Amino acid sequence: MEYVLETSALGKSYGHFKALNNLSMHVPKGSIYGFIGKNGAGKTTLIRLICGLQEPTCGEYTLYGKKNSEKAIYSSRRRMGAIVETPSVYLDMTARENLQQQYRILGLPSFDGIQDVLKLVGLADTGKKKAAHFSLGMRQRLGIAVALAGDPDFLVLDEPVNGLDPQGIIEIRELILKLNQERQITVLISSHILDELSRLATHYGFIDNGSILKEISAQDLEKSCRKCIRIEVTDTKILAPVLDHMKISYEIISDTEADIFAQINVSRLTSALEKDNCEILSIYKRNESLESYYMSLTENSGRE
Ligand code: ATP
Repeated sequence: MEYVLETSALGKSYGHFKALNNLSMHVPKGSIYGFIGKNGAGKTTLIRLICGLQEPTCGEYTLYGKKNSEKAIYSSRRRMGAIVETPSVYLDMTARENLQQQYRILGLPSFDGIQDVLKLVGLADTGKKKAAHFSLGMRQRLGIAVALAGDPDFLVLDEPVNGLDPQGIIEIRELILKLNQERQITVLISSHILDELSRLATHYGFIDNGSILKEISAQDLEKSCRKCIRIEVTDTKILAPVLDHMKISYEIISDTEADIFAQINVSRLTSALEKDNCEILSIYKRNESLESYYMSLTENSGRE
């Protein structure tokens, strides 16, 4: 597999504190890589290192095959656009002026293409409105537009949906998918919002205490997770022995709710429960596989 970014035993210390510790990760070309970890796990530190904003204490990383110790890393970084922490947007400028400024900073020969980028992020019609009067979601999209200046094929987004309302989250999600699928841009997204990442990511890297606990493709994660169906009944005390009898694994959540970890024949279950006067009130598939996978990883990580 071809990797856009690889790190090997990467470390970053602040005094005696190891913000990154022996971190090894692999971002496949063309992927949307969900970089998951709780607050303080080291996500932003890793992003700051690969953007060249800080130097590692030990270990190394390669971007497009170029090591961080090589001079050629600078040209690799030109293929990368990033938002680190908050988007770098000038609030007293319009969307177009912000992009013009970024084009100047990058030394790009002309402003051609700015309109296309604005269109891509859905800000082509914002005219004279200054970024200060944009919604948070619009600012975030402008930040992505700025990161797209210079036509990168690797986009790094640090917590891109933090603080956004549901509509803003949907817009960012659709934009990321479009960039990945239509423009073949590899995307690294750090986040602790698992539900959101599970709608996007093709690969995951789980970070805890500065180290990668596990990397896994979305496909393999799907396979390794138990399928879960949440069922609501009038009485789980009646449900439990019926499921035992059917040799179906389950977990009781409350007097009326249970999670079932198997495909079930609903009509067979309904008639079995009917005999004991128990009714099914609702039944639905739960999309919590990523969450439970993450929880079991961090529980088993033996933290200091
Ligand atoms: P968040 O989601 O809260 O941004 P994160 O996973 O991005 O978390 P980092 O910002 O990378 O975490 O921080 C990792 C650890 O390193 C934290 O404990 C943080 O306090 C510490 N840290 C980061 N920068 C410095 C610094 N300049 N000096 C000392 N400690 C630092």
